[in-house]
Parts: sequence; structure tokens; C-alpha cells
Amino acid sequence: MIEKNAINILKSLVGFDTTSYKSNLDLIAFVESYLDTHNIKSSLVYDSTKKKANLYATIGLAIEGGIILSGHTDVVPVTGQDWTEDPFHLTQKENKLYGRGTADMKGFLALILSRVPKMMSTNLSKPIHLAFSYDEEVGCVGVHRLLDLINDNSIKPNFCVVGEPTNMEVVTGHKGKCGYKVIVKGLACHSGQAPLGVNAVQYAAKLISHITEISREKSIKGPFDYDYEIPYTTLHTGVISGGTILNIVPDSCQFEFEIRHLIEDNPRELINKIKLYAKEHLLPDMHKVSSKADIHFEKKITYPGLSIDESSELVRYIKKLLNNKKHKKVIFGTESGLFQEKLDIPTVVCGPGSIDQAHKADEYISINQLEKGGKFLDDLIASISIS
Ligand SMILES: [Zn+2]
Repeated sequence: MIEKNAINILKSLVGFDTTSYKSNLDLIAFVESYLDTHNIKSSLVYDSTKKKANLYATIGLAIEGGIILSGHTDVVPVTGQDWTEDPFHLTQKENKLYGRGTADMKGFLALILSRVPKMMSTNLSKPIHLAFSYDEEVGCVGVHRLLDLINDNSIKPNFCVVGEPTNMEVVTGHKGKCGYKVIVKGLACHSGQAPLGVNAVQYAAKLISHITEISREKSIKGPFDYDYEIPYTTLHTGVISGGTILNIVPDSCQFEFEIRHLIEDNPRELINKIKLYAKEHLLPDMHKVSSKADIHFEKKITYPGLSIDESSELVRYIKKLLNNKKHKKVIFGTESGLFQEKLDIPTVVCGPGSIDQAHKADEYISINQLEKGGKFLDDLIASISIS
């Protein structure tokens, strides 16, 4: 069994350069017209610039319940990556299909679309809903508008499967993420008069040390979830810039940090702890020299973690379809926690391809994974068909 149709569709999808900062409308128009040829109506939900859109479509009876098959249409940039072939042209070598987004996650989208004729010709007992989003790769931003649409809909789906690459294994959990930018404003002066200035770089360093200390505490005190490779909440600083030349006390320093938290940890509490440290331990000293000195926190990104009970109906159902009793938790984030949190729909992550190939040069999906994904969808359709 070779997924010829899916591969053809994947070729089209990869051909649209839907890097997150670009428009995804050409891809959405392609999907909309494809669904239209099968008499399926799409609802589009645009972003505020009207350059990007989510797509939602229901196949089968317009009744309560059914399952959402969800995926994002955007991809990460190829800038600075050393690709052997054109990343926006699907290239097959032996049993691998190369191209940006093949694993993450246009392969899954192509498989879904390839099964549309089958979904239409099958007498489905429950509807199948397609939910394709934009701006996932910049922090699950675009899907919010799509979730609002589903929430406003009179038909409420029962389950959701987010097809991020998991090698077709069912994923029951991932950590939540919360990213902040911190802007430290000091007071510049000649470095020979250093005590007369407020050194923004040094105060930023103190705050970063505090964040590192909280992370260390988490690694010792927990909470812990040993299903994860790193079984506790982590905090990390990834970007910093400040100062101009050595003989000026720097009046500005900016850095970005993130929290990757277990479902048991509340990121807001950790953020408040960091803010309180700045307020009580840093700002008073800074203000002794300059009343204008400041530490400003800007929230950049946030999405909740995913956690679904292993014994829940959805997990048992998906395991049965996959004929695999195992489940796992993963290190990467997805939109799945938002489906759970905003819509209260039980959600798992399960899709073809490996996260090991995602975001890298020469990203690929193996034909074997496409076949496994195709079989999963065939079995899913069969499981809700009225024979
Ligand atoms: Zn993805």
C-alpha cells in the first residue's frame, strides 16, 4: 500500500511557503477548494490582518459529538539551515519524503485530505471535524480564534486528535509553556563613576540568577512526573542583550526567559515569585540612585500543558485503533492543551513522523509513517461507520 494520493496532496501543501510570518491563505484556498469539490463547506476564521486564516469543516451528519482532526498549517523558517534540496518542493529519496513541514505537520494534513472521499462515501454515525490552524509555531496563537468558532457552534465535538509527529504513538501529556521578556532600565554614566549609575546588566544578571535558583529548587523539590524525560518544571533564560561599550555603565538590558511547567505547577505563581523578587530585592536599591529605574515584564507566549487520564475513553479508543497499549508524554508543546482548556474536549496528540526531524534542515517523513497514519485514519473511519 503506497499512499499515492496523500503524497500528491502533500506535494501541493509543501509547495505553499507557509512560514509563520507569511500568509497561509494560498494553502487555505487550496484546501477550501479541494473540500468544495467534495461538497464540503469550510468556515474560515481570519486573523486581524486578514492575511492568515484557520479552516473548520464538518464531514457527515450535523449532529452532536464526533471527532476533531486537528493540525497547524504554518511551518518554522528555513533561514540559516543547510537544505540539500528546495525545502518547499517535495523530494522523494528512497522511502523518505523531504520538505519543510513534511513531519511537522503537513503529512498529517495530507493524510486527512486524502481520506475525505472515503469519509464522504462512508455512512458515518458521527461527524468528523477538520480544524486547521495558523500561527502554531509562534506559540499557539492562531488557534484561539478557531476555538472560539467551535465554542460558538451548536455542534460540540466529543474528542480531538492533534496530529503532531509522535511516530503514531498516543501522547497523553506535554508541559505547558510561558515565555517572558524582561526590560531592565537603569541609569548610564561614565564607568569611572560607576556607583552614580544604575547598571542594568548587573541587575538583569541578579534577576536571571534568581530565575536559575527557582529552577534548581524545582529540580530538587518537584513536583515530579516520571513519565517525562525531565520530570519537573524547568525555567531557563535563552536571550540577553545590553550595554554598548565597556566604559559606560549600561542603562538598558533585556532578556527572555521561559517556564516549561508540569500540569501540577501553576506558572502564574512562579512568575509572581520572580516579580516579587524584583520588587523587593532589586528595585529598592536601583531607586536609591534613580527614581526612573525600572524592571518591566512583558508576556510573550503562553499555552497550557496537556494532561489526559490514561484510562479515559479517548485514550482507550485511540490505543485500540493503533493496536498499541503504550502511551507517552513528550517534550514539545502543541495546541492540544488549548482544546482541553478552552473547549473542555478530551484531546490526545497522535500523528505520523518524528519530532526528531521537525524544525531541522532536510526535514522528512518516511513513507512507512504515512502508511501507518493512513491506516489509523482508515480504522478511525471504519470505527464510526454504520455498516
Ligand atoms: Zn507542529
